[in-house]
Amino acid sequence: MRLIGVIGGMSWESTAVYYRLFNEAARERAGGLHSARLLVWSFDFAEIEALQAAGDWDGATARLADAARALKAAGAEVLVIATNTMHKMADAVQAAAGLPLVHIADATAGAARAAGMRRPLVLATRYTMEQDFYLGRLRDRHGLDPVVPDAASRETVHRIIYEELCRGVIRAESHAAYLDVIARMRANEGIDGLVYGCTEVGLLLDPADTDLPAVDSTRVHVTAALDAATG
Ligand code: GLU
Repeated sequence: MRLIGVIGGMSWESTAVYYRLFNEAARERAGGLHSARLLVWSFDFAEIEALQAAGDWDGATARLADAARALKAAGAEVLVIATNTMHKMADAVQAAAGLPLVHIADATAGAARAAGMRRPLVLATRYTMEQDFYLGRLRDRHGLDPVVPDAASRETVHRIIYEELCRGVIRAESHAAYLDVIARMRANEGIDGLVYGCTEVGLLLDPADTDLPAVDSTRVHVTAALDAATG
């Protein structure tokens, strides 16, 4: 298995899930005491969030590119950016390290198509829901027709990610708020599935919450990265 370099800490709440899933999947695949060969670079998320909020995407790109180079220097052979939002700079990060990068949108779209989705509702940060780097990739490379909530609901979804999920806070009211967004989008927009397009959304939602098919970007990203590292 090639050494996987994980650029994480965005937030660490979901990086911790990645760490567990990587190791569980490696054990499932190889058995016994096998676990995943990983290097994890974990940012102080307050620093990254400040750059996001200021719209300093160049500054954020420089930070992630430095992390990618450091992981390469430490021996990483495959790169994973453990957040959907920061795939905004995936190309620059990949180029900085000169390593293969397992793109979360490709893993997610593949799983969504395999589940029969054409028009999934994407629940994510405002950046992911309102810019083109993610939705455009789902559309142009994978033939999906992704849908995002209306502006007020996007604000709610985004706020719960940053003010609660990234801080380890799980609230029943927020779970209900997400389900309400899903129900309204289902009634009005003809969605045929759910994409947890933020790596913390799986901390709040469970695929059993609705009878729509659901793809958790965190889970499918781990599977795709292990495939890349072992294939
Ligand atoms: N982990 C989140 C995502 O998947 C949001 C936090 C971040 O901005 O990286 O988009």
